[in-house]
Amino acid sequence: MKTRRAVLLDRDGTLNEDTGYPSDFRQVHIYPSAFEAVRRLRAAGFATVVVTHQAGLGRGYFDAAELARLHDRFLAEFRRQGAALDGLYACPHAGLGPEPECSCAKPGPDLGRQAARELGLDLSASFMIGDKPVDVRFGLAIGAVPVLVLTGYGRAAATALAAARLRPAFIAAGVLEAANWIIEQGSPAGHGQV
Ligand SMILES: [Mg+2]
Ligand SMILES: [Zn+2]
Repeated sequence: MKTRRAVLLDRDGTLNEDTGYPSDFRQVHIYPSAFEAVRRLRAAGFATVVVTHQAGLGRGYFDAAELARLHDRFLAEFRRQGAALDGLYACPHAGLGPEPECSCAKPGPDLGRQAARELGLDLSASFMIGDKPVDVRFGLAIGAVPVLVLTGYGRAAATALAAARLRPAFIAAGVLEAANWIIEQGSPAGHGQV
């Protein structure tokens, strides 16, 4: 079975400003550098897949139809910019309370594994970019290389991760620097090289 290397990307705080719980695409401000990051990752042969927690659905700030419309517009905008994304996977659960109510919220590996099945990804040869400790822990949970960005909640995350002795493989100023670093890494040892 042919598998692709991928870069999984968090949405809010990584590809676009984290503005809380946007219910409409007009409230979503995509970082211009995110388009360039995805273009470069695609050119380097990576599948690019968004894995996001949209707790605003479970919390009643917007409904499933609104979220689907927002994500249709989001994907269309990336396509328009020559930066087509291969997939977008969202956990819609509220995520309130101390116990996880689902297994699809990061850092649970479910959405990563679903993406791998549906898109034919080799997660062990893949990367995860995000701005929160859960993104780094999710990357580790799926066997990918975790990269932290300092946009969004990234600065607080860097402090929290250091306190927990969890190390992202790289800390980037933003998604474009993260993409450049990933491309520079070449193929991880033991994967895909003949
Ligand atoms: Mg985020
Ligand atoms: Zn969930």
